[in-house]
Amino acid sequence: MALGFRKSARDSNRAGTEGQEAPQAARPERSVVLGEVEELGIGMFWATDAEDHLTFLSQRALADLGAESETLIGTPLTRVFLDVDDQGTGTAQRSLAFKLKARSKLDEQIVAVPTARGTNRWWRLNGRAMIDAKGQFQGYRGSAVDISAQYAYDTQVARQSQVDELTGLANRRKLNERLSAMLAAFRASKRSCALMMLDLDRFKQVNDTMGHPAGDELLKQVAQRLSKLVGNQGEVGRLGGDEFQVLLPDMDDRGSLGELANRIVQSISQPYQINGRRAIIGTSVGIAIAPYDGLEADELTRSADMALYSAKETRGGTFCFFTSELRDAASKTAMLGERLRDAVDREELKLAYQPLVDPETNEVKCFEALLRWHDGDAGDISPSHFIPIAENDDLIIRIGEMALRQACIDAMAWPDTIRVAVNVSAKQFIRPGFRKAVASALQASGLAPGRLELEITESVFVGDLESVDAIFRDLKKLGVRLALDDFGTGYSSLGYLKHGHFDKIKIDQSFVRGCTENGDINPAIITAIVALAKALGMETVAEGVEAMDELALVQDRGADLVQGYIFSKPITQDEVLAHFAEGAARFRPSGPPRHRAERITIFRKVGLIHEDHYYDVILRNLSKTGARINGLAGVPVGTEVVLDLGHGQLVVSKVVNVSENSQGLKFETQMISDGSGGFMTRHRISPYSLAEAGIPLAALGAGAFPLAKWREAHKSVPAFMQLELSAPGL
Ligand code: C2E
Ligand code: MG
Ligand code: MG
Repeated sequence: MALGFRKSARDSNRAGTEGQEAPQAARPERSVVLGEVEELGIGMFWATDAEDHLTFLSQRALADLGAESETLIGTPLTRVFLDVDDQGTGTAQRSLAFKLKARSKLDEQIVAVPTARGTNRWWRLNGRAMIDAKGQFQGYRGSAVDISAQYAYDTQVARQSQVDELTGLANRRKLNERLSAMLAAFRASKRSCALMMLDLDRFKQVNDTMGHPAGDELLKQVAQRLSKLVGNQGEVGRLGGDEFQVLLPDMDDRGSLGELANRIVQSISQPYQINGRRAIIGTSVGIAIAPYDGLEADELTRSADMALYSAKETRGGTFCFFTSELRDAASKTAMLGERLRDAVDREELKLAYQPLVDPETNEVKCFEALLRWHDGDAGDISPSHFIPIAENDDLIIRIGEMALRQACIDAMAWPDTIRVAVNVSAKQFIRPGFRKAVASALQASGLAPGRLELEITESVFVGDLESVDAIFRDLKKLGVRLALDDFGTGYSSLGYLKHGHFDKIKIDQSFVRGCTENGDINPAIITAIVALAKALGMETVAEGVEAMDELALVQDRGADLVQGYIFSKPITQDEVLAHFAEGAARFRPSGPPRHRAERITIFRKVGLIHEDHYYDVILRNLSKTGARINGLAGVPVGTEVVLDLGHGQLVVSKVVNVSENSQGLKFETQMISDGSGGFMTRHRISPYSLAEAGIPLAALGAGAFPLAKWREAHKSVPAFMQLELSAPGL
């Protein structure tokens, strides 16, 4: 039997009658009873003075903690018993300090108790404040039960169900709960919320080549970078595998969301150090925003997933917003894959050649081979569309080898000073048989290796960089030339340029197009890339030059070669041969004098609101700053209108020029890029406002905004003449 008072527990076998502020419980008979209670493991006892300092801790409690009573007696209770975090175990409770201060009853209060061994025990406390006859507070008297085993188990279970073990981020379950709760709450207060889905590009490669522990380490580092970037703007979680999610409350500005997504893509693509080795991966991001793209958690999640799928398909390393068109696109892609396979079997894929020209002499130095596919139903399908589909399976290997063989054969018919460049997909490049395929294409055609140039994008620098290096060395031994394509768009790590793998850098079109516009920083970027390439002994090519002013600029900035519509679009082998047959190895530049703001030619029915009337019009083209429409007559210049581009995208505009039945509109605020070559508005009108206008919220599917329905509620006299919209397909 053992009860300890102020003195050391060991020399106080008899309960502390000598204790100064002896609590009532200290009478020997009672202490015997309490001692027995304690011996039986039913409970332990403690007491404090009026200053909340520990005055008593029973013997078993001391033994439990491996502590001497001297070290604990006199210590503030809040230093002996520590508050625990709510780990989702339902232990949400007010702090001990709060309760002591309020003199309130301690009712099953769970605390952590540090032991002398440096570990923690967990106790459940009961206790109450003692008030003497004069109403003076005398301190607490209480009991405790050790619940360590149960607590450890509970918290582990709770943690497992809420937290991703590997990264410490929220797990799928927690994210789902959070999203559902947030959407329900936000619906009441009409707030918005964005959901970003991330999927790492080529993570599998790191896992396969460097091992699973390295993969785990990589995921941890990705989690850290993400958490740092998102900060307190939202919640980051891991759904499993290489999928992450970010939940961003009160975010509906697609401009800032795009910027954040871009920063995420950039940051994740920076190299990682793993056990002393370098690895690079990328990420794609899909974004959906409630209430526009979904009102419920599962609907919003599906939308974000679809956007992610589309981002991955575009080329990876990008982000994409959900639009309702994506829903149809997903099923189209599957069909296209089938047709592509057939087309390859029937050898329907052809090559076209685009010249790379020296702008000083206009002499062609090289032709780039570009795949062309004409489908009976769908018409011409761009390689930037079907190559990613082919990359989903091994079809890319067949297509790639075909292009390689054919290009070498075709080049044999050209003057032998002219090189041929062939695009190589990253998937094709890192496959073991690639070197052999190149060697065999050279051998079969008899082309000198120095005339063959392989165009590779930055996306090959992923996974284990040492094995990528080995592939480069092998290819160099064959004597072929290597060009870095689309420079500046991808994983943007300059490290690999230093290895001297490349003979040539192709500056991506996005830096060239529009580089002559005022205030554009792209000329500075072009200058820097050219200088870098020169310093490292590489040739530079400016891609996508369309206008004379762009040609002058890239020439002035020192680009060695120019490729673009200004010299020629891609042409057939017959046309190439005809060119040489005329004895000319030159291409003359011809094109518009100046770059024009990018306009997308469209033919789509949209709405136009003027005063209280809703008209149908046809959108002919669209740029960031304006649009051209058809379908109305008698609209004077200066008229203020609102263009309804669908899905809640309303654009306040002014008519700036008119010609017969067509009007040019200038937008009040600029559109933003949608990440995949189109434009969209920064904000959308909320379906909540539509609901207020009488359209029931539940009737709105994801992304569907039948604004035109408004017109029924707005029967009004039109100010302009609505023309028949008789265009095909409308
Ligand atoms: P890329 O290798 O960057 O090729 C340049 C693309 O830019 C070509 O598009 C070309 O037609 C286009 N282009 C060139 N000059 C201009 C210009 O002045 N203005 C505009 N607007 N565009 C210009 P294309 O033929 O549609 O090819 C797209 C992409 O598809 C290529 O980009 C390449 O990444 C891929 N690709 C094409 N053929 C192959 C192939 O045989 N294998 C692989 N793996 N990828 C290929
Ligand atoms: Mg290329
Ligand atoms: Mg390119």
